Amino acid sequence: MQAEIIAVGSELTSGHVLNTNSAWLAQQVEDYGLKVVSHVTVGDAADQLERSLRLALDRADWVIVTGGLGPTYDDITKEVAAKVWGQPLLLSDEAMAHIDNFFKDRSQKATANNKKQAMVPKGAEILANPSGLAPGIWLKNEEATLVLLPGPPHEMKATFEASLAPRLAATAQSAIRRHALHFYGIGEAEVDSRLDDILPDNSNPLVAPYAKGGEVELQVTAYGPSDQAAEDLIKPVIQTLIDHFKDYFYGIDVDHLKYPVSQQLARGKWSMASAESCTGGLISKWFTDIPGSSAYFAGGICTYTEKAKQYFLQVQADTLAKYGAVSAQTAAEMADGARAAFQTDLAISTTGIAGPGGGSPEKPVGLAYIGLATPTGTFTWHFQANALQTKHRSAVRDAVGRAALF
Ligand code: ATP
Ligand code: MG
Repeated sequence: MQAEIIAVGSELTSGHVLNTNSAWLAQQVEDYGLKVVSHVTVGDAADQLERSLRLALDRADWVIVTGGLGPTYDDITKEVAAKVWGQPLLLSDEAMAHIDNFFKDRSQKATANNKKQAMVPKGAEILANPSGLAPGIWLKNEEATLVLLPGPPHEMKATFEASLAPRLAATAQSAIRRHALHFYGIGEAEVDSRLDDILPDNSNPLVAPYAKGGEVELQVTAYGPSDQAAEDLIKPVIQTLIDHFKDYFYGIDVDHLKYPVSQQLARGKWSMASAESCTGGLISKWFTDIPGSSAYFAGGICTYTEKAKQYFLQVQADTLAKYGAVSAQTAAEMADGARAAFQTDLAISTTGIAGPGGGSPEKPVGLAYIGLATPTGTFTWHFQANALQTKHRSAVRDAVGRAALF
């Protein structure tokens, strides 16, 4: 079932108020098997709204509109919806009773304007609004379902939860499964170009790549008649994607490398320590972000000067003199030093040029070496941050840290 969401309000089109309703609604209706295929935002102009509504009803099974249900002259949603639906507006006793009660509770009287809020297109059902005056409206025929919800976000949410969600649950015909696969070290364009070969018919499940801070996320969404059917659809596609990009894959539904790394350390009962220079303690921070990390993360030493590297990590003066602080040799000795100091199975190290100044033709900004000391030997990697990252110190640090975790 395809859905379109229309947000109405000139304050939205002008950018003075951020349209949060559409995003919220799109996430909610997904749980009921509605796939939102387009969003439209339109100002308080009847002719514009009419065109948008007709187009939406033409291309979607469900159209959900928010805003413009109020009592003022610029609130035109109901008039336009009634016209497009081909029905007159009639006074609803149910809606009027709600409005009268609302004012009675506050010892006030409804104004003539409020009567406007009780007018609904003929044949409509009322979606009670527990937080305000303007009720939501539900219109359904063989071709489409049209829902009108109030604009103020707390009223829209309250009306959705109290009145629309139960109806959606009753009519839901399809279930949805969605997972996000995370990849490190491969570009979005490359993933995208390979997807055509892997999944020539990329529709259900639908696989959509997103670039995220130097990583790639593949959002996989499957629709089926039942939870089990959606699960059966999505499983093999996820496996195919993981197999195909296995050198880059690091996790499902986790948005940071620190989670799978920590999980593997915990599962394998490996202890870890860190020796950091250019990442300035970032790796320690990431490990300690996770509750219970003392089970595998012993601690970290942040050594910034050569002297500190020598004193705390036993990096040799000769090594520093011969290769420099930013070198594979120094990274290896830093990792060895941390592994010895913390008596851990593993120790990871980083040393590099965070920038934005400094660097040289041989050792440019963004160059880093990563070391890993293990029971069977010490390994090093060379890393170079890209041109976008080298503009910002924090981006270089983040990139080196993630390279180290990967
Ligand atoms: P009423 O006029 O009775 O308050 P309404 O249904 O006519 O209700 P609007 O007048 O369109 O609603 O919007 C009321 C307020 O709610 C707006 O000023 C705006 O701050 C907020 N609002 C409306 N639509 C949205 C939206 N899509 N996202 C976020 N806020 C919104
Ligand atoms: Mg308005």
